[in-house]
Amino acid sequence: MYDHAIVIGAGITGLSTSRVLTDHFRAITLIEKDPLPHTPTSRKGVPQDRHLHLLLDGGRRALEDLFPGIATDMARARVPAFGMNDARIDTPHGPFPTLGKDVTMWGGRIKIEHVLRERVRQLGTVSLRTARVTGLCSTPDGKTITGVRLQDGTSLQADLVVDASGAGSSAPAWLESIGASRPKESLVQIGLTYASQVYQAQLPDNLHLYYRFTDFQENTRLAGALALGDEEIIVTLAVTGNGAVPRTEADFSAFAENFPLLRTALHTASPRSDIATMQILPNRIRHYEKLSSLPEKFLLAGHAVTVFNPAYGQGMSMALQNTVLLGKCLDAHPSLKGISRYFQRRLARANHAAWRVSGAGDYQYPHVTGTPPRFPTQLENWYGQKIQPLFTQDPDAAERFTRVFHLLSSPTSLAHPKFLAYALRYSLRHTPLPTYSHAEDLS
Ligand SMILES: Cc1cc2nc3c(=O)[nH]c(=O)nc-3n(C[C@H](O)[C@H](O)[C@H](O)COP(=O)(O)OP(=O)(O)OC[C@H]3O[C@@H](n4cnc5c(N)ncnc54)[C@H](O)[C@@H]3O)c2cc1C
Repeated sequence: MYDHAIVIGAGITGLSTSRVLTDHFRAITLIEKDPLPHTPTSRKGVPQDRHLHLLLDGGRRALEDLFPGIATDMARARVPAFGMNDARIDTPHGPFPTLGKDVTMWGGRIKIEHVLRERVRQLGTVSLRTARVTGLCSTPDGKTITGVRLQDGTSLQADLVVDASGAGSSAPAWLESIGASRPKESLVQIGLTYASQVYQAQLPDNLHLYYRFTDFQENTRLAGALALGDEEIIVTLAVTGNGAVPRTEADFSAFAENFPLLRTALHTASPRSDIATMQILPNRIRHYEKLSSLPEKFLLAGHAVTVFNPAYGQGMSMALQNTVLLGKCLDAHPSLKGISRYFQRRLARANHAAWRVSGAGDYQYPHVTGTPPRFPTQLENWYGQKIQPLFTQDPDAAERFTRVFHLLSSPTSLAHPKFLAYALRYSLRHTPLPTYSHAEDLS
């Protein structure tokens, strides 16, 4: 056991990381710049919590591994839990088949984070502290991190520091200030803007989730709605490229009218929140795993390392899978010497599967800018496009894709020789379906 670890940021990554560190440290200080509420409340530090959030099955399972029994707490807090049967997902190739198999999702960021935070509060060795971290403390040669500097001018020492401060992480600048290099970045910019509003309403047919998946062509529109419990739904509308998202009640309703299911749901609905809008960051990997000057005893996880296009709903799940991986790395590598590179390399490998869906996957669309994927990702994108229609028509293929999408199987399962042969034969034999018309959305 080591004495003390510091975690920066009490989002999904920081909260779950604190739990894993209790197995290896006598005391953990979780430092968060926002005062942390005791109720399910939106926070300034996570503006994304005002938009539709879905915890995929891969993330839900990771959370249950980290916090046994948390499903009971989620149910008590009325966090919606539902399967694919309770969801309607429209894709550019038609509705995704309703599958009854073993997939459960949880919905709603604010309540999920609240339940997680309350579980962390019960951990005797984790202290939550309200403060803003402004830099890292290190040995004079800058090769080992020894703590963090706080905005009030004080510092706090630790045997290990974990940066879980999200997409706005200042770690590149902090590293530079102690003589290390900034990490290189891979960026894929799809140019999404979200607008969301909570309504007192229910989705038709007892649905828990409606999601209109898009092919992300320029100026396409995207819509989602999620039941939050207590007869509330959150509706998220989004546009790519130069399209305008609705910012007024009238524009929001007019935009939602383009989606028949939302039209029905919102017919007599009354808003329960203001409209929140958000310009979405590009998909981004910060390549800490390649940084030869990465100091010892400093780790980074979650959005601080990899930001995914939120339309695929992977961020929280990947953060939780990152945490499970951190636990395994600490078990396998109990000496903290060398842990930084050891962990960041494994993390990069683990995140690559989700990146193939979002970052590299998004690169197939014509208006996208950023770091072009290399071979074999280009080939995977080509193959992915060819077989997409199959997922809406063949239940076995849909089942396979569902497991990949929910981060339960690797994308390589879609390239298993038998499936590959079947999928390619299928796509050669069938003329591509007309893409599910956007005319309806754009009318
Ligand atoms: C619009 C949108 C929709 C999304 N939808 C989904 C979805 O459907 N499903 C899904 O799984 N994911 C989704 N995500 C991603 C998800 O929100 C994040 O990936 C996930 O929360 C993991 O983030 P994190 O904990 O690493 O960072 P965050 O959740 O951003 O938390 C970082 C924390 O660090 C704190 N902090 C920052 N700087 C400092 C500092 N210097 N000192 C102290 N504290 C600091 C912040 O206040 C914050 O509390 C979405 C993201 C966006 C933007």
